[in-house]
Amino acid sequence: MRLLVLAGDGIGPEITAATLSVLRAASDRFALGLEFAEDVVGHESLRRFGTTVRPEVLEAARSADGLILGPTATFDFKDEARGEINPSKFFRKAFDLYANIRPARTYPGLPGRVGDFDLVVVRENSEGFYADRNMAAGSGEMLVTPDVAISLRRITRLCCARIAWTAFALARDRRKHVTIVHKANVLRLGDGMFIEECRKAAREFPEVATDDVLVDAMMAHLVRAPGRFDVIVTTNMFGDILSDLTAELSGSLGLGGSLNAGADYAMAQAAHGSAPDIAGRNLANPFSLVLSAMLLLAWHGRRSGQAAFGAASAAIGSAVEAAIGARETTRDVGGNLGTRETGAALASRLLKD
Ligand code: ATP
Repeated sequence: MRLLVLAGDGIGPEITAATLSVLRAASDRFALGLEFAEDVVGHESLRRFGTTVRPEVLEAARSADGLILGPTATFDFKDEARGEINPSKFFRKAFDLYANIRPARTYPGLPGRVGDFDLVVVRENSEGFYADRNMAAGSGEMLVTPDVAISLRRITRLCCARIAWTAFALARDRRKHVTIVHKANVLRLGDGMFIEECRKAAREFPEVATDDVLVDAMMAHLVRAPGRFDVIVTTNMFGDILSDLTAELSGSLGLGGSLNAGADYAMAQAAHGSAPDIAGRNLANPFSLVLSAMLLLAWHGRRSGQAAFGAASAAIGSAVEAAIGARETTRDVGGNLGTRETGAALASRLLKD
């Protein structure tokens, strides 16, 4: 498996280096033959090449079997005419990575704030309220007068249907429960369509139970009793917000792993941003990106039929769980190691276990 690795901005280079040390250990132990090509995106690319994403990087991504994207400073990249392309948006669009899979769970030994849970947010990733990417040309956000702004939300039947199907297929292999999260009392047409397509998918998976919850109520339910949820399917913006909450409830935003998957390509990318406040200080928790890479290995294993990738992915998950239990972690989850040391300890645990 050849992977393109783009470290990104802020804490990106630190958590990416730690993730690569873990992946190298997994590759050694399970004979995966992982190969890594590294390139740059984000601020470093803008400085060196005048654009945050060069066409050569897209070509390199196309010829790789998957992509690891570190967090990028998306808030800084405002003007595409000046080369400020949001790399995250760019790759999601280029490969039509329509499903953003964001698992969150509590860990033994890490005191939960709200009781134990193990859930997955399945977030539509290609349209919705992301006005900077939901149009074929131009932007879905406009200024009518200096004092009037309009932001468009796009919902299409096809995108609803494919994310719904992804969620139900995932739930079938888990605890067989899908919760549809929406705001159909206000967004009657768009979220109405979303619910309709989810209900259609539900009929294809009769063994999976389904309910639906308004997004505002969902915030309260998640804080009160997250253990009652298994798979949560929702539109793009709601999924982004909900999954930061679920990652933090699991112990830290630094545990927020995520996979962006399309029909035939996938990209590992932590759920959080570039956290400039802690960048360069060896403080960031690398587990978010490690867990993202774990999801990518499992995805590749399923597609290629190579069981070793599934086994490596499961071993990484177990090693993370054991590391958290043993407090071999960064400070945000109770340890006192740096980013580098956390990665090194996890890599050697993986080789030992
Ligand atoms: P951006 O503008 O790139 O989204 P941000 O700092 O506004 O960056 P996040 O990066 O998502 O937003 O993070 C919010 C806060 O959570 C950070 O300020 C940081 O303190 C904490 N945080 C995020 N990621 C991690 C991590 N991997 N390890 C530890 N703390 C983290």
